[in-house]
Amino acid sequence: MSKKVIVVGAGAAGLMASGTLGEKGYDVLLIERNDKVARKVMITGKGRCNVTNNVSLINDLIANVPVNGRFLYGAFSKFMPSDTIDFFEDMGVPLKVERGNRVFPVSDKAVDIVDALNAYSQDAGVKRIKGRVTELIITDGELKGVRLEDGSEHFSDAVLIATGGKSYPLTGSTGDGYELAKQAGHTVTEPKPSLVPLNCHEGFCMDLQGLSLRNVEISVMDMNSYKEVYRDFGEMLFTHFGVSGPLILSASSHMKDVKPRKYEIHIDLKPALTYEQLDKRIQRDFLENANKNFINALDALLPKKIVPVIVRLTGIKPSTKVNQVTKEMRAKLVNILKDLKVTVMSLRPIEEAIITSGGVSVKEIDPKTMESKCLGGLYFAGEVIDVDAYTGGFNLQIAFSTAMCAANSI
Ligand SMILES: Cc1cc2nc3c(=O)[nH]c(=O)nc-3n(C[C@H](O)[C@H](O)[C@H](O)COP(=O)(O)OP(=O)(O)OC[C@H]3O[C@@H](n4cnc5c(N)ncnc54)[C@H](O)[C@@H]3O)c2cc1C
Repeated sequence: MSKKVIVVGAGAAGLMASGTLGEKGYDVLLIERNDKVARKVMITGKGRCNVTNNVSLINDLIANVPVNGRFLYGAFSKFMPSDTIDFFEDMGVPLKVERGNRVFPVSDKAVDIVDALNAYSQDAGVKRIKGRVTELIITDGELKGVRLEDGSEHFSDAVLIATGGKSYPLTGSTGDGYELAKQAGHTVTEPKPSLVPLNCHEGFCMDLQGLSLRNVEISVMDMNSYKEVYRDFGEMLFTHFGVSGPLILSASSHMKDVKPRKYEIHIDLKPALTYEQLDKRIQRDFLENANKNFINALDALLPKKIVPVIVRLTGIKPSTKVNQVTKEMRAKLVNILKDLKVTVMSLRPIEEAIITSGGVSVKEIDPKTMESKCLGGLYFAGEVIDVDAYTGGFNLQIAFSTAMCAANSI
């Protein structure tokens, strides 16, 4: 009789692991609480799914996992981004590589990734039921199976927990895996938001809500140590509460122990120009608009929505004629365009985070097999484990690598 395995959660990790186990001939039962599988994967990469990152060196992968990256050495070495790429291309999903080695389906549709994972699991003969696992069945210290919310029981030789983290709970990931792990005696590092938008002090964020800035550079300063903790170039967004967008989400994972005013973000709205070049550019614009009011002379330089905010911050009267703007006033304008400051007050809640930092402690999981060190036959894969990575496709790669590692070890 073939070994029976229960996989809890049909997300990125659960679908991958169940398919691999099914292909090996195991009797696999996949339990998912939602009607549809992989709801979170459907919304990844703004619906385009940044499925992995095309780095070829294992140390480059680990460098993008700031929390417990070394723990993943074994899992990554057995299933690298090139394996993820081969997997999806073999499943009939052509992929492309974009800026920063980010890999997406050529179709730009996350649903193609979900369909491939779903087909992989289904074609391998994996049985499925809809239900929410609420308990592990442990008898005399031995893992026997799982109990569902409706009281039904399912028995197996091994259980793989792939229930994801706690962010975006509407997708089904509500942190149930942490409770199951605790039941087996595991320590769970407190789940916190990571890759998350930021609440900010400045009221002008509200005035600018909806404004997306492409091609800006941000520098994040720790005001306790006066050290820069992050600098990058890209896209950000103003919202009613503060700031969001790819640059900000990445910046947030470099902020530790966030307290009001501990971090400042300095936005360079014109990173391609030095202070001198920008001043010259403004002088040229002003020459062409010599008789206009100051507030009407900045449209060629800036998005319309941000002009009143910048004018207010310079302290120059909006009705000042451009030919009356002094060198000192211009210097003030240049300084603000090169260094627009927003003060971080707090992270947005975990529900709005892209990933959960924290989870089942890596000290209690065997890194070679993903098996629990507390309870034999119990395995973990994906975001439920206390590892988290930067944006760029690394988090899905973690889900796939740990899933393959667990499936090949069971
Ligand atoms: C908006 C957004 C965008 C993202 N974009 C990217 C991206 O482009 N690239 C990237 O690499 N990462 C991205 N991520 C992160 C990535 O989606 C996750 O890290 C990844 O999905 C984790 O995979 P997982 O299998 O561990 O968990 P999940 O994919 O969350 O799957 C967990 C599954 O378990 C089920 N489940 C939970 N509890 C139970 C229970 N008790 N019983 C039964 N079933 C249960 C859930 O319903 C769910 O289907 C994004 C995340 C978000 C929120």
